[in-house]
Amino acid sequence: MFKAFGILVIAAFPVLAQDGSISAERIREHTRFLSLDLLEGHGVGQRGGEIATEYMATQFALAGAQPAGDNGSYFQKVPLVGIETTPDAQLSAAVGGKSVDFRWLEDFVGVSQRQTPQTRLEGEAIFVGHGITAPEWKWDDFKGVDVKGKVLVLFTNEPASNDPAFFEGRALTYYGRWVYKYEEAVRRGAVGAILIHTTPTAGYGWEVVRNSWGREAPFVKLAPGQPSLAFQGWVTREAGEKLLALAGKTVDELLAASEKRDFQPVPLGVLIRGRMPAKIRELDTRNVAAMVPGSDPKLKDEVVVFSAHWDHLGIGTPVNGDAIYNGAIDNGTGCGILLELARAWAALPQKPRRSALFLSVTAEEGGLRGSEYYAAHPLYAPGKTAIDLNYDALYPFGRAQDVVLTGAERTTVWPMAQQIAKRLNLEISSDAQPEQGHYFRSDHFSFAHAGMPAFSIGHATEFLGKPAGYGQKVWEEYNSKHYHQPSDEFQADWDFTAVEQAAEYGFVLGMEIANQDKLPDWRPGDQFHRLPASNTIYHGQMVW
Ligand SMILES: [Zn+2]
Repeated sequence: MFKAFGILVIAAFPVLAQDGSISAERIREHTRFLSLDLLEGHGVGQRGGEIATEYMATQFALAGAQPAGDNGSYFQKVPLVGIETTPDAQLSAAVGGKSVDFRWLEDFVGVSQRQTPQTRLEGEAIFVGHGITAPEWKWDDFKGVDVKGKVLVLFTNEPASNDPAFFEGRALTYYGRWVYKYEEAVRRGAVGAILIHTTPTAGYGWEVVRNSWGREAPFVKLAPGQPSLAFQGWVTREAGEKLLALAGKTVDELLAASEKRDFQPVPLGVLIRGRMPAKIRELDTRNVAAMVPGSDPKLKDEVVVFSAHWDHLGIGTPVNGDAIYNGAIDNGTGCGILLELARAWAALPQKPRRSALFLSVTAEEGGLRGSEYYAAHPLYAPGKTAIDLNYDALYPFGRAQDVVLTGAERTTVWPMAQQIAKRLNLEISSDAQPEQGHYFRSDHFSFAHAGMPAFSIGHATEFLGKPAGYGQKVWEEYNSKHYHQPSDEFQADWDFTAVEQAAEYGFVLGMEIANQDKLPDWRPGDQFHRLPASNTIYHGQMVW
């Protein structure tokens, strides 16, 4: 059945006839291998992770793609620091003779950005609303108030609106992400930033915050002299209520105030003190990089990047007696696609004009660290990078009718992306949960953050010949039962047709981008269009 489809595609789309060897079966085999128990869930800093990277490098070599990493190898070394705040961490708020002590995990979580075993925090608290300065929406929570040396107290998310012309309506913009809040705090010279958690503003409960922040997380090593916060963290709504009560304020009152354009920062007159002891260890890990040179003597200095993270959660807390987090869908499928794309690209008799880079990044699950490191140490300069097309967790559940391209519309590639979808008989579906900010949650975002056009080619949501709602059903089932669980395991009856379609789509799109005269760019006015280059390093862990 699958073969028959292959012939159909070749007949209908001559562009694929020439290079139409993208094979669901090869992608399946890579996925199967990478998700074997033998690979132990390919955790960062674990043996299984080392095997996975060796596998990727070996397959790139067999495919005829050249090494693009350090010293003529397929590897780019990524020095990370694993940081775990220890349970004796302290945080308190005081005014006059009154003070409140907060309890680790029960009331607060957080980490020092200083990457030292002991950090002290001390500063006056100032409430800054959502902590956003967004000139394009004429929004400024700081109003020129100097917060140097202060501890920012704020909410995550952004001013609420259904107006699509205001903070993109229901969609979460980068301004709404908590990572942005900490970046803004660093830019403004604050010493700390404390987010008051509420379930509506965060979009998830306290357990999610506690579970993601209460354990070791990897960070890219601080550069000498790089500014950093002594504390970035969260308090529960109840703890926030106690903190604000010292200043005679309430959470609801300040939430309401922070919805207004004429909001002014509120000095709370409260002294915040803390101690952030941490266990710190070096994590040596690596990105895997292979390339196929372009055919145009001038344009071959420029590159189309395909990326997919190789890491998953490794060996962890057992669930039903199973401690191996295999990561078959997340991201065995993406790695399988990457290897197959490299093979097909290297096999092209006539190479596209620009070069292609196949990049399998590390530590995505720990907060996009491998791609963050890559964006700060790119193998091709940002100005020479045409685009990053990323793959993360594709669904092998049949034949796709659509593809989700979150963020493609931000770039000048958008019309071409639509045309190619039409040619390949795929609908482009919009993100069903724009308020979750998916665009900021996989590796393409590290490229975007550094100014390089980038988006992910995502999983299908509609499958051919299946009952209505099937796509939604498999998504819900995967998300609730298998996502980041030991049960994200390879299934022999998976149908990789949709995964092959997503690979073909990226292959054709990447080839057209590699051959066109002009480099892609952000659309004018896009949030990432204006990000200064100094923004390439950011802090924080991602909540998934
Ligand atoms: Zn993933």
